[in-house]
Amino acid sequence: MNLRLVVISTPIGFIGSGRGGGVELTLVSIIAGLLELGNEVTLVTSEGSILPSSCNRAQVITVSGTDQESWQHQDANAPMRIPLNAILPKLLDKALNIGKDYDAIINLSYDWLPLWVTPYVDTKIFHLISMGGVSNIMIDIINKLSKTNHNRLAFHTYSQASDYKLADKAIVLGNGFNMKNYNFQLGTKGPLGWAGRISPEKGLEDAAEVASSMGDKLLVWGFVEDKEYASKIEASVAPGTIQWRGFLSTKDFQKELGSCRAFINTPKWNEAFGNVVIEAMACGVPVIAYNRGGPGELVKPGFTGWLVPPDDIEKLKIAVSKVDQIDRTNCREWAIKTSSQKEFAGRILSWVVSGIADEKI
Ligand code: UDP
Repeated sequence: MNLRLVVISTPIGFIGSGRGGGVELTLVSIIAGLLELGNEVTLVTSEGSILPSSCNRAQVITVSGTDQESWQHQDANAPMRIPLNAILPKLLDKALNIGKDYDAIINLSYDWLPLWVTPYVDTKIFHLISMGGVSNIMIDIINKLSKTNHNRLAFHTYSQASDYKLADKAIVLGNGFNMKNYNFQLGTKGPLGWAGRISPEKGLEDAAEVASSMGDKLLVWGFVEDKEYASKIEASVAPGTIQWRGFLSTKDFQKELGSCRAFINTPKWNEAFGNVVIEAMACGVPVIAYNRGGPGELVKPGFTGWLVPPDDIEKLKIAVSKVDQIDRTNCREWAIKTSSQKEFAGRILSWVVSGIADEKI
């Protein structure tokens, strides 16, 4: 079944800025995948957004304004705040205005307002929840929406969904990547790698300590959200351990990423998915991760990498020393099998189609 869909982007940063984190790539995958499956897509996003050619057939509507603050950097009891000239209500306003002529809206902004408004509007808004529960007001509104419109909510992993008290079994859709954008690399002698927003919840310090104490180099990619935090980590390890590689395009990122002998993922929070875990595997790089959040579901110990107890740096070191036991082709094959773009878009479509059908009964 082909649908006409509106997609709402993140209210933090523009697509391509890195400020939106993994949602940026997830959004591109959803749009490209939905188009590939023959759907019509209109994206409502921030001004300045850059989309790859795979999204060329999508109609794009842009708005400008003030970003939302990221929930993960606020107190758990922080109230919902909407700044003057905020981008969030503008995204919603545009989407609802055009949404009347569409089958559904797929919302990727992790914020209170689109969730709250959902039961009150005729247009069917579906929410792909991109974060675990870090804020009580967000947890509360998701729990409430689950009671009235459970089928409008979907999650990336079971660990992420477990942060919410849902009225029914969580709809879990994983994630998807265009595997053609990632080249398999066989080499096993390369450095260690780490990628993500440089921000405390991502736990770069643990990976840096592992590399430093093992006399290794750690290549680090990602948008620097917290400069002070980045400098503090650099100062705490042996000089030259961290090789800052910047925030690169997927094309350049995967080229460098694939040269690593292991990828370390050390989240300090309940990571919703962990795009970079699958991206590393797509390049053939085994992943050593904390058994916390999404990565705990994505890494198959002894097959695509190793999982260690959260915050256990000694166990991380042991796992790094065993990385040559992993066959890099397993990683690539596993990534293709579980997280390809087209299949992910298919899961998104089935979720929306059955959500619409349920409400017609
Ligand atoms: N990323 C990138 N270039 C880089 C480093 C990272 O495009 O140089 C992207 C990566 O592809 C991933 C995102 O940054 O999609 C990080 O997302 P992840 O899900 O790992 O964590 P989040 O930021 O959402 O917490």
